Amino acid sequence: MYDVIIIGSGVVGALHARELSKYPLSILVLEKNNDVSMEATLANSAVVHSGHDPKPGSLKAKFNLLGNRMYRQLSKELHVPLLECGGLVVATSPEEEQVLDGLFERAGVNGLLENEYQMLTREEALILEPNLSDQVSKAMSLPTTAVTFPWEMAIAGLENAINNGAQLLMNHEVTDITRSEHGFVVHAGGDVFEAKAIINSAGAYSAHISEMLHPKFFTITPRRGEYFVTDNRFPIVQTVVYPAPGKKGKGILATPMVHGNTLLGPTSNFVDFDAQHQTTPEGLNEVRNNITKTIKHVPFDKIIRSFAGSRPTADAGDFIIEETSPGFVNLGGIESPGLTAAPAIAKYVVEELVIPRFSVLPKSDFDPIRKKRVKMHELTINERNEHIKDNAKYGHIVCRCETVTEADLDAIHRPVRARSHGRDQTAYRAGAGRCQGAFCSLEVLKILSRELNIDPIDVEYKPRSFVLAAKTKGAQ
Ligand SMILES: Cc1cc2nc3c(=O)[nH]c(=O)nc-3n(C[C@H](O)[C@H](O)[C@H](O)COP(=O)(O)OP(=O)(O)OC[C@H]3O[C@@H](n4cnc5c(N)ncnc54)[C@H](O)[C@@H]3O)c2cc1C
Repeated sequence: MYDVIIIGSGVVGALHARELSKYPLSILVLEKNNDVSMEATLANSAVVHSGHDPKPGSLKAKFNLLGNRMYRQLSKELHVPLLECGGLVVATSPEEEQVLDGLFERAGVNGLLENEYQMLTREEALILEPNLSDQVSKAMSLPTTAVTFPWEMAIAGLENAINNGAQLLMNHEVTDITRSEHGFVVHAGGDVFEAKAIINSAGAYSAHISEMLHPKFFTITPRRGEYFVTDNRFPIVQTVVYPAPGKKGKGILATPMVHGNTLLGPTSNFVDFDAQHQTTPEGLNEVRNNITKTIKHVPFDKIIRSFAGSRPTADAGDFIIEETSPGFVNLGGIESPGLTAAPAIAKYVVEELVIPRFSVLPKSDFDPIRKKRVKMHELTINERNEHIKDNAKYGHIVCRCETVTEADLDAIHRPVRARSHGRDQTAYRAGAGRCQGAFCSLEVLKILSRELNIDPIDVEYKPRSFVLAAKTKGAQ
């Protein structure tokens, strides 16, 4: 019998696991995929929004602001990069200037402090972001806007939770939940677990999980966002540039990423579940056509990748954060600003909804620090040599574009064990550079196959998607 089962290992589930691991409770995270955070947390804009934009009085507004104020400390404790670059919402017409005035008022109502939002003339905005388009006439500055690395935040949160006693099982899709005398019986991946409380953080599938116990009371529709990523040797912007918001939300942004790349996007279109991760010519053209409205000198020839992510949009139009029946907490519709809000939602759910059931005090031996991973590209030559002396694998460069060594790819043996080629590529940056894995993919495949002791043909890129299609004639 577990005290708490968390369903889903996205950033929301991960930070709930970490928050719960501050207490003397047994915690199990169940994840359906073969790796953690492979859904919304994997593919988004990575922006720690200031809180200026959500509808006043909504849960999104409340938890966005609280979450934003937690990110610096959290990033420090978990050693996750945080680019404190600020943001600018820009207007390019008199109509948009009016929208900006409304947004300025909203920022104040949402609780941003006076020094956290400021209206700027074009000239003042150009000092913060020289690459604004010629059409930009006015801008609202949001200095507390930052950029994180969402996947590493989720992995780091889980690693820290595991180091503090939580457990994680991947390849465990929850297929049924029933009530029992003492709580719940959960069927997942062919196993049966019991728990006194459940946190449903299954993202796009949260309504499905909720319906295992309750009558349907919310619906999730995927809202796809498509993006371009540009080469990190050609940074385009130094601050997050938002257009004036419209019917489709925050619009198409230019975002500087923590690794130096620039993200252009996302679009916002409701789609079927099976189309949520697909890019389309129409979507990518929408990005191309809109981005030049707010910034100039966009090096379209330096685009190295496109991708799509999917927002789990609830029909309620707001986050659903409630104990729907005793011991069962539903977290539905955690779309943007869910990444920003995640630490604050976790703190609220754990402290206000879960812990009162158990009447326990925080552990005295909770360790908030996740050990820093060595990243060779951040080190001086002397520091690199020291590491190579200790472990020769630091001398074996696997990915030349991003200077990722064999020792960097130690994720297979870390608390949140990597199982997929995609993890190495996205979280550890092997293959994330200019050549997009043309040189290192095979090497990563060999390392995974060797360390997992499986045939190369069985190495997955993402869940149920393999790197190699078939053995060629004559291969062993
Ligand atoms: C295009 C886009 C742009 C965004 N930009 C931003 C931004 O800039 N800033 C911001 O704050 N937010 C942003 N967001 C929102 C943010 O990404 C999400 O709010 C956040 O990632 C949600 O995390 P999650 O853990 O709830 O969901 P997910 O990351 O989707 O995790 C849910 C997990 O549950 C698992 N699961 C599902 N069903 C089951 C089951 N039956 N059994 C076991 N496991 C299951 C899934 O496999 C998955 O791992 C954006 C989202 C998108 C898509």
